[in-house]
Amino acid sequence: MLTSWAQLNADIAGCTKCGISAGINHKVPGQGDPDARLMVIGEGPGAQEDRQGLAFVGAAGQLLTQMLKAIGLSREEVFIGNIVKCRPPGNRVPTDGEAANCLPYLRAQTALIRPQAILLLGATALKHILGPELRITKARGQFVLSKGVYILPTFHPAALLRDPGKKKDAWEDLKRLRDILSGLPEKEKNSRDHPN
Ligand code: SF4
Repeated sequence: MLTSWAQLNADIAGCTKCGISAGINHKVPGQGDPDARLMVIGEGPGAQEDRQGLAFVGAAGQLLTQMLKAIGLSREEVFIGNIVKCRPPGNRVPTDGEAANCLPYLRAQTALIRPQAILLLGATALKHILGPELRITKARGQFVLSKGVYILPTFHPAALLRDPGKKKDAWEDLKRLRDILSGLPEKEKNSRDHPN
């Protein structure tokens, strides 16, 4: 049965399935429009995110804000989250076990939001959503249509900060995302309860 936002947020807040939950300041469940047309999924919280309990608020988050703005979207009208809701120590990549533990929450969020498109940011999101055999350098920019949802992998903004040479490709990916979204009919509004 589909959970409610209140139940889901309570489940995430109380979750201790992974050892990393013991060392965090805040869970980072993700935030944005619970009726969003677009979900954006990254890897996991960093230091800033852990401090504030919000996804993508550090330097990579600022770049993400600019990237969304460039295709006419504000942060408030999308939903931004991660594969894991707890910060892995030292910003290491989440283990497969941590990702497996946490993915049911992301799936539940996706079921509540019913987005028309999902933007996967970076290799970790790609691996756990579309498959471990895929490489971000090959898969980026190519839509996968899954259960009526257009899923597009692209580079993580942190990778763009490390290697600005990748920005041109990321921009091409975002333009494809903009074109897909603009060609889709307005989303039917969710009638379910909303968080907060
Ligand atoms: S990463 Fe996810 S599954 Fe693991 S403890 Fe945190 S909230 Fe729970």
